[in-house]
Formats: sequence, structure tokens, C-alpha cells
Amino acid sequence: MSKKTVEINIAGIVQGVGFRPFLFNLAKKLKLKGYILNRGNAGVRLILQGESKDIAHFIKDVDIKRPKISFIEKLEVKELLDKEIFNDLEIKTSEQGRGISLTLPPDIAICDNCLMDMRNSELSKYYMYPFIACAICGPRFTTVTELPYDRERSTMIEFPFCKQGKPSCFHEYTDFNNRRFHAQTFACSVCGPNYKLFNKSKEEIKKPSIKEILKETAERINKGEIAAVKGIGGVHLVCLADDDDVIVKLRKRKGERKSKPFALMIPNIDIIDDYFKLSNTERELITSFRRPIVLLERDKKSEFSYISEQVAPGLNNVGFLLPYSGIHYLLFDFIGEKPLVYTSGNASNIPMGIDNDMIFDQLQNLADFYLLHNRIIHQRADDSVLRIHDDKVKLIRRSRGYVPEYLPLPFEVDIPGAIATGPELAVTGAVLRRNRVFPTQHIGNVTNFETFESLKDALFHMKKLLQIQDSEIKYIACDAHPAFITTKLAKELASHYNVEVYPIQHHFAHVLGLMAENKIPIEEEIVGISTDGVGYGEDGNVWGGEILLSSYNGYKRLGHLEYQPMIGGDRCTKYPARMAASIILKNLGVEESRKIFGILNLHNDLEYKEDELKALISQFESAKNKFPSENIPLSSSTGRILDAVSYLLGASDIKTYRGEPAMRLEGLASKGNPENVNLNIKDVVNNGTHIINTSELILDILELLKDPKNTRKDIAAKFQKELGYSFAYIAIEIARKHGIRKIGLTGGVAYNYSFSKVIKEAVIQSGLEFLEHNLIAPGDAGISTGQLIGGLFRYLS
Ligand SMILES: [Zn+2]
Ligand SMILES: [Zn+2]
Repeated sequence: MSKKTVEINIAGIVQGVGFRPFLFNLAKKLKLKGYILNRGNAGVRLILQGESKDIAHFIKDVDIKRPKISFIEKLEVKELLDKEIFNDLEIKTSEQGRGISLTLPPDIAICDNCLMDMRNSELSKYYMYPFIACAICGPRFTTVTELPYDRERSTMIEFPFCKQGKPSCFHEYTDFNNRRFHAQTFACSVCGPNYKLFNKSKEEIKKPSIKEILKETAERINKGEIAAVKGIGGVHLVCLADDDDVIVKLRKRKGERKSKPFALMIPNIDIIDDYFKLSNTERELITSFRRPIVLLERDKKSEFSYISEQVAPGLNNVGFLLPYSGIHYLLFDFIGEKPLVYTSGNASNIPMGIDNDMIFDQLQNLADFYLLHNRIIHQRADDSVLRIHDDKVKLIRRSRGYVPEYLPLPFEVDIPGAIATGPELAVTGAVLRRNRVFPTQHIGNVTNFETFESLKDALFHMKKLLQIQDSEIKYIACDAHPAFITTKLAKELASHYNVEVYPIQHHFAHVLGLMAENKIPIEEEIVGISTDGVGYGEDGNVWGGEILLSSYNGYKRLGHLEYQPMIGGDRCTKYPARMAASIILKNLGVEESRKIFGILNLHNDLEYKEDELKALISQFESAKNKFPSENIPLSSSTGRILDAVSYLLGASDIKTYRGEPAMRLEGLASKGNPENVNLNIKDVVNNGTHIINTSELILDILELLKDPKNTRKDIAAKFQKELGYSFAYIAIEIARKHGIRKIGLTGGVAYNYSFSKVIKEAVIQSGLEFLEHNLIAPGDAGISTGQLIGGLFRYLS
């Protein structure tokens, strides 16, 4: 028999997820001797001695049997030749490895064992206790103030373990064989946080037990009241999902939220199984420890009577999530088996409240009563939102359950730290540590004070978690838009840290993120299709339908949508009719356009009706066909073309939330058949740049609408496919010409399934490789990652 000694170093998210007890028990079973050392941020080191085959067995099992929530980035094994003999297997005291990796996991949904304990009436300390947790479940990111991850550096410090009960919490925490050994966020009904009920006037509604609290909550919700329920990463507004009146009431109270969809929480997956066609990947994700909101497509055949039409008006998908904390399960125990609206509790455009006073303050006109707990939420984290295209994850909002996981870059980098501030709408920030990118939780639109402050707070918190010193920040990256508030922030930070600021073009940043997550080697180029609503172009115009020949070092713009005027600038974004009118005016002139506007009743869809149409036409006339001009920027945005088409096809007349016209167009198209309609989109080559002719496209659609045989849904379906095909076709041609093997799709329009699918199929059919997002958001929330990468190559050059 051959005995040997090995040193194993494991890096990744291996702390705070029950990883050490797992390693210990595994080694013990295989009769291995030696020790296990927790090296803090540097991961875990094991010295193991035993039979070669047992050591090999151990290494194999680490990967197969490890806790699902751990993440191993690197596992290195080397044989040790010295002859030290170990008689035992032990866990050695922690060593503080500094600054090599962050090993904090995200917030983890309550596990099955804890759920069982919570429902076991014989376990008095845990029975119906919503804050139950263990070493492999419970909150992490939202409660941790600093690393290394320990109870003292979390908001649980206010709740010292009790020494009552059998076993006591203190005993469970210190017993290596207990599944709560070193679990930092657990507590029991004796020593832990608790829920209280409050009425609209912030007065406590006193109840003798959690059972009575839940009963009252359920009764009120079933009566049609709107509850504010504080949870893991913030507060939610909760109400019935099958009652039109209740949802209309919620929309009215929210003010600006006229039709933005609400997410629904369901007690279990069975109740939607017959109505939504869940793929294996969707099922896997919705039930995973991350518990995100997953957008599911309605099955066309059956109607799901549990949901009011008011939940997601005009859309072909609805967002669902499963319970992830004890309180959710307990609520359903009392409310019954039906979906509930479960939406972030914030006034429009302001970050969700996390502190009880803030919650009372923000929600006084929104909630009828409050169910709040007394644990501090250190970092806000909304529920994550995503949809699945075939088996790939398209993150829309990357927050709870994902943050602070990182993206390892596919090349060696030895830079201690850098910061990217993101774009302006749908923002995340990001921090670089060596070769790892750590995006912050989703922040959203930062044009108001509160959200902007929360971006700064999230960035500084991430920097602190990563233990990056001020002197270690080597550069700041931001968007190329000179007027963005995040660009100003980047300049301030750069001067504070005394480093350079690198503005990175918006669509190039999208492509860079895509390249990194697809592990493109440093010397390779790809063709990136970058399609979205708006990004500042190098020529000062509004870009958004771009085909970029890209390397990590830079890009060439070799294709884009034709420039169209946006008469009145940003007003075109809010009122799709304005965008349609701009394109029609540019191509047909005033007289001809007036006739068409009359047929469309276009003035009806402008805020100030006839007056606004008059003003719009005179603005156009005074520019004398010279664009861009004052108040008439030029745009190659895909989003604006989708808006215009969505309007012409009657899917959307006003944008009340980001992406609404495009999403409604997708909803309409999902019912149509593209084969019933004839539509071709053409392009021209101008100085080596392909330009997709969107003028002719709009005129063709107006022609199609004249024939009643062409239904709007069929035209919508055909248009989405054709648009995807033109991008694909040009990208393939560019790739062939430059000997490139990979074409990728990124930007917010990539969320549109049929558009993406056409591009993917065309690229694969042409024998090239298709790159898509699976780890970072295709939309603007993914931009900060790309900015860091773009900045890195500027810094290194
Ligand atoms: Zn658990
Ligand atoms: Zn206790």
C-alpha cells in the first residue's frame, strides 16, 4: 500500500457555506489524517495523509458532493515529500489570509432541513420561527458589515446566542457535528430577531404570538389590504394577485406605475405547472438556492385564472418566484395556496426601504399595514430577475442570491483594485480585485439623489468587503457620456484616489463584458452585435444598433442602423408616436406625412395632442433637413425602431416603464406567424460601413398595414425576425471578411427571444460560433463589468 501526503489549496466561495465541516467529514470517512486550515480570504488549505486511492477519491468527491452553494474557482494539489506523520485529523485555528479573494457567498434561501425544523411543533425554539437558518442557508451578503465573515461582523451581533433549550443555540454553534456549527446568521425564538405588526399609523397591533400575527396578516391580505412585509434584503408590498381591484389600487397608489408588471410569489411550483411551459433550466433556477424571479411564458392554450390581467398588461410572460425565507412559507400556511403580488416596497424611482423608520416613511401612502422585524439589513438587495433563452440565463436584475459573486477574467491581471461607475439607467457599479470583477447589487436609475447615493454606498461597501485600500485603486472607468452623473462621480473618485479616469463607449462596454464571460483569449477579436435603447456615440449621436469588430483593446464600428432624427429628443423615448412621426417626416416630407398622421390619429397619442403635433412639424421644418440640430439628435438605436414599430402596430402608445413598447411588441408578436407576411430589410455599404435601412422598413410596414389581410401580430412577428436576420447577416459578412470565428449578441434588445434566436441560428448555420450572455446582464446592468475591462486595457497600454 502506498501512503502519501498532499497539500490541497481551494479558492472560491468556500466560506460561510458549510464547506469546512463537509471537508472534515469527507476526509474522516476515508480515514485520511492531517489538518484543515481556514485561510480567510485566501480560501481553505488541507494537508492530507493516507492511501493514494483514498486521496484521489477525496478530491473527486469534493467536486461532486460539495454543498451546492459553494463555488470552487481553483483547486490545486501538490505532493509533500517531508516525512511528518499525522495521527489525527483536525481543524486548525483560522489564519488571516488577506486580500487574495473574497469568499463571501450571497444570500441563500432557507433549506429543507430548516423548513422541517420550522414546522416541527416539538422543537419549541424553532417552531414557526421565521429566522431559522443553518450553515448552508440564510442571509449572508445583506447582513455582513465586514470580512472575515463572522457573527461579530454581521448585523446578528445584536442577538447573542442563548444557552437555553436542548441543544442551546450556543451549543449548536460550537458543536462541530451540528449543522449550525459556525452558522453566523441563525438564532431561535428565544435569542433572535422577531416580527411585529403595525397599523397604518405606525402603532403596534399587539399579538401574543407569531401565530396570531400571521393569522391577522393573512386575514387582512385576503380582505384586499396591501401589506408591507420586511424580509431579507428589503421590504415588499404584498397583496392578492387574482383581484383586479386590489392591483388597480396598488397601481394608483404607486402613481407612476401604470402598467409595469408585478412579480408573483407562489407557494410551490405545482400550482403553475399546468399553465406555464417550464423548461428544465427554468425549473432548476426558480427552485435553486438563489430563488430569483423567473419570467415565464404563458401557455397560449390555457388561461391561468389565479392571476389578474392587471399583473402584467399586454405581456406574454409573468415573473414568478418561490418563497425563500421562513416568513414567506409561514404566510402561505395561513393565506392558502395562491399566488401573491410580491413587489419591492418603494415609491417609484427611490430605493426600497431597509430601515423601519424609512419603511414607515416611504410606504405611508402605499401600505395598509406593516409586518416588520428588528434585524438590521446592512445592504439592500432586491429580488433578482431573469428570463431563460433555451438554457441560457438572461439576467435582468442581478441582486439577492447573486451578489457578491464575481466574474473571473480569462487572463492574468495583477492590479489590486479599480472601480467602474456604470451608465445612468439600470445601473450597477463594479469593483476589480486582481483578475476578478465584482458587480454591485442592482441599483437602477441613478438620476435622483437617493439612488445615486445608494450606488456610492454599494461601491464603497464592495471595496471594503474586498479589503481594498485607497492606495490600491489604480483607475476609474465610466461611460463615455459627458453629462452622466456617473461620469461626474468617476471624475470625483479619480481625483480623490489620484488616478486616471477612462471613459468607455457604451456599446463597446457591452461587448467587452460578453467577451470576458465567454472566456475570449486576450489576442482574439470577435464581431459584437450591440443593440439597445441609448448610448453615447463617439460622433456625438445616440447609438444603439451597432456591429462592432472588437478586441479587448478597442473596436471598429463596421455596421449600424440608419440614423433617424428624434424630433424633441428624449420626448421620443417617452412617446413612441413621436419617434414614428420623426421617421415618417424625414422620409415623406410634411404634406405626405400629414395624411398618414391623420389616418393613424397620431395626435391622440401625443401628450398635448394637436398642439404638440403642430409644434413637432414646425420643429422639423425649421431644421431644414439638417440633422442633428437643436432638439433633434440623430439616433441609430434599435430601441427607438422597436418603439416606432410597436406604436404603428398598435401595441404601445406611451412608455410608462423602461422597455415597455418593445416588450409589448414582443407580446403581440408571440401570437403571430411571421410566414404570413412579406417584409425584407435592406442595407447599404457606405465607406466600408454597413447601414441597415430603417426608413424603408417603416414605409414598408405602413404599406403592409393598408392591406387588411396582414394582421398586426403577423407583421410584428415578421418584423422581429427580419430585424434579427439583418444584424446577423451583416455580422457574418464582416466576420468572413476579417477571418473571425465568433459573433456575439449583447445589449438590452438581446432580452427579446425571437430576435436573439434568429441571430443565433443564422450564426450557427453559417458555421461560426455564437456568443451570448449567461452570467452578466445583457442590458445596462452589465455595463460596469465591461467598463472595468475596457479601463484595464487602457491602464495597461
Ligand atoms: Zn438551513
Ligand atoms: Zn437561541
